[in-house]
Amino acid sequence: MLRFEKVVFSYPDGTVAIDNVSFELSEGEFVFIIGPNGSGKTTILKLLLAKYFPQKGEIIFDGKKIKELKGWERQLLRQKIGVVFQGRNLIPELNIEENLSLRLELAGMDKKERERRLTEIVDRFNLKDKLKYFPSQLSSGEKRRIALARALSLEPLMVFADEPTANLDPLASLEIMTELVRINKEGTLVVVTTHNKELVDKFRYRVLSLERGKLVKDIQEGKYVLT
Ligand code: ADP
Ligand code: MG
Repeated sequence: MLRFEKVVFSYPDGTVAIDNVSFELSEGEFVFIIGPNGSGKTTILKLLLAKYFPQKGEIIFDGKKIKELKGWERQLLRQKIGVVFQGRNLIPELNIEENLSLRLELAGMDKKERERRLTEIVDRFNLKDKLKYFPSQLSSGEKRRIALARALSLEPLMVFADEPTANLDPLASLEIMTELVRINKEGTLVVVTTHNKELVDKFRYRVLSLERGKLVKDIQEGKYVLT
């Protein structure tokens, strides 16, 4: 489903953020990307969303080379990838219902389809009581759950959660992780970045370790795979 082939990327200021990274993620997998701050986790997401392009190597998602996508295809790509940031991606001026429907509207869905998906996601995440609230009136755990609900409303092929548990207490973290595991059990490829080793140790999933832009380990089911 997603392949990085010897990807090299430096930011315009010369910072080498991704240094010859290769990996392949299959449909239905659950994968952690772990690494300290600055190791390149968020950059992987930006490259995947075609916000930046690698200077070397190739990124292939859903059978297509990302650098060759046309403008509208890039839009489509972004709909196939449900992104969850650290809860900052809700719009403060809109209530929860508006936040949820805007995402669907931007994806070009008609009213009927928007309503169907909204109802589904509201039921699933139990958000009925929260619809008229504004993001500032919710806890960080709730905001993170709503960001996740919104990402899922587009029925993506893959969910990329960038440090979804950062600054959450253990209970709220567990709730988010449980939700991500459930999404994965339903067949969606889930990628979770974190710098929290404890979190990774609790779950027996594949772990890619990044250090200063290099992929230093790829551990599958407790087995080291040298890269
Ligand atoms: P992580 O998400 O693992 O904390 P990032 O992918 O954000 O790491 O950053 C990787 C490296 O790229 C770091 O050295 C960071 O300082 C640098 N970096 C990130 N964003 C930019 C940017 N917009 N311009 C220049 N350097 C950046
Ligand atoms: Mg980051």
